[in-house]
Amino acid sequence: MKKALITASAFLAVGCTSSEIQVTNQEDFQWQVDRFDDIKVLRYQVPDFDSLSLSQKKLIYYLSQAALCGRDIYFDQNCKYNLPIRRTLEAIFTGYSGNRENKEFKAFEKYLKKVWFANGIHHHYSNDKFIPEFSESYFKTLISGTPSLKGSEERINALLPIIFDPELYKVRVTHDSSVDMIKASANNFYENVSQAEAEQFYASRFDSTELHPVSHGLNSKLTKENGILTEQVWKIGGMYSPAIEKIVYWLKKAAGSAENPHQKATIEALIKYYETGDLKIFDQYSILWVEDIDSQVDFINGFIETYEDPLGYKASWESTVNFKNIEATRRTELLSKNAQWFEDHSPIDDRYKKKEVKGVSAKVITVAQLGGACYPATPIGINLPNADWIRKEHGSKSVTIQNITYAYAQAAQGDGFSEEFILREEDRELSKQWGSLANDLSVDLHECLGHGSGQLAPGIKGDELKNYGSTLEEARADLFSLYYIGDPQLVTLGVMPSLDVMKTEYNTYMFNGLMGQLTRIELGKDIIEAHMRNRQLIARWCYEKGKADNIVEIVRHEGKSYVVVNDYEKLRTLFGDLLREIQRIKSEGDFNAGQALVENYGVKVDSTLHREVLERYAQLDLAPYSGFINPVLKPIEKDGEIVDIAIEYPEDYTEQMLYYSSEYSFL
Ligand code: ZN
Repeated sequence: MKKALITASAFLAVGCTSSEIQVTNQEDFQWQVDRFDDIKVLRYQVPDFDSLSLSQKKLIYYLSQAALCGRDIYFDQNCKYNLPIRRTLEAIFTGYSGNRENKEFKAFEKYLKKVWFANGIHHHYSNDKFIPEFSESYFKTLISGTPSLKGSEERINALLPIIFDPELYKVRVTHDSSVDMIKASANNFYENVSQAEAEQFYASRFDSTELHPVSHGLNSKLTKENGILTEQVWKIGGMYSPAIEKIVYWLKKAAGSAENPHQKATIEALIKYYETGDLKIFDQYSILWVEDIDSQVDFINGFIETYEDPLGYKASWESTVNFKNIEATRRTELLSKNAQWFEDHSPIDDRYKKKEVKGVSAKVITVAQLGGACYPATPIGINLPNADWIRKEHGSKSVTIQNITYAYAQAAQGDGFSEEFILREEDRELSKQWGSLANDLSVDLHECLGHGSGQLAPGIKGDELKNYGSTLEEARADLFSLYYIGDPQLVTLGVMPSLDVMKTEYNTYMFNGLMGQLTRIELGKDIIEAHMRNRQLIARWCYEKGKADNIVEIVRHEGKSYVVVNDYEKLRTLFGDLLREIQRIKSEGDFNAGQALVENYGVKVDSTLHREVLERYAQLDLAPYSGFINPVLKPIEKDGEIVDIAIEYPEDYTEQMLYYSSEYSFL
């Protein structure tokens, strides 16, 4: 529930104010390394890596290896045919002896690049299956022209309909509650199981009187064999064992380089969890992890986020390795220290305010490696753990990934986006000056304070909002952020220089929710993804409610539409009103009200505006989605001992993907 995905504000954030990031040769650094379909592939830098101690660098290196070892798990989770398909495509790409310069081969190469990027045959964001732009008969030519595939024809023939039949395994995951969401989802979390059976299976495991419930179903596939429902647990000796064994191998080395005993115990708990699959140990690990706030190096490694299971039980495997950006963290610490003030002054009902806001730790980090569901498409902020009771009793850890947002901003400089979509010169200027800070601050507020605020009414468990839960939770955190970025208290605290930062954020948010994010939706389609639903919900609701006072306007100018905010203070009041209502919905578990909000404002798209946005956007020839290749960490050895870790920034997306497939493929 807790990832902040990149918003259009990063596209608008030209002219970066992040003085913390100091990397030499900034001018020469090539941020974008590849471009295909709707994707651009960027690189990120790891500033200050050299200032870390040898022991910290080794720790990052070992954790990075662990991060790469789970790549195949995520491919397989997304669809059980992904790995055989990827391997077939790679065999052709590296071994085909025929003409590689014609249009068809280029279309094949593009398809492979898309499969790598999406960790499978479905789009990473829309979830729709890719339609190859080459024919099945051409594909057969490629297979027969690839010597290493001799003898595998039968196996490959079985894969052909999965690649070419548009009706088979059509969407990776659906949240359309009018169908059996389990049967309609192509991902690999359930097999031979209906939605009703899965719901019943897990309902019987949750005991509402349990104070510390484990996250049932989090680390397993649910299957039915001979009429009996069974969980295949993802652990050593269970499903995905060969990859998990490698992860554990590197985690053991990491434990030996831990910064302190607490961090060592944290890594050891994770190892024990991978060895046993015991979800109680996962909770113990999560508590140790969330309470480790002293270490500079940190990581995520495991089955974490449940967005990709329509029922919200099964977690996708992901990893990041990172270290604290000490300078920039001062900003978020200031927010955290004042968490109680923010809670007390929030516009929500007093009954739903936390009397004591606990353990809101926040930091700005620099990532050094991305893996699984965080690679190549990457979150820019993370707030974990997800278990409600752990968050309540032990707090949560929030991070803003500044070297990633910085790379986005750098890559977007001068791409023409703000000239096309921002009407007023003064708004373009504000965006240039404050876009980057507004973006970083809004992520901080969303992650450090937004998700952690508020409390449930007695007797409410937190899962009452079902398939609308993620959208409403993201809306709640966004609204908290939007409300407070307009508070003069932030100026008083010294985290922003003036309310101009608020103006930029409001301009960007309203534009993005009403128009900007539609660049990512195909004409005629509804909005599915939770963060996108939440953004449109907020923007549409405020637009409609503010119509009488002309608070936000869609202005027509020379045949084009523009979003213009006319009254920032009144818009802030609307954000507060909606925050109050959504907090009430969550606190009371009011499913019907939540459903009505999401369905009325967050799902359906204004088709006229949508068509216009797509046409204008197409003319700019920009890619709506971005992701990153990783730097390469290289141990430097002397007399069999690691004496340093060098960091290199490769420039070739295809090379990195092929390298990972050859060196880190264990399933
Ligand atoms: Zn969030």
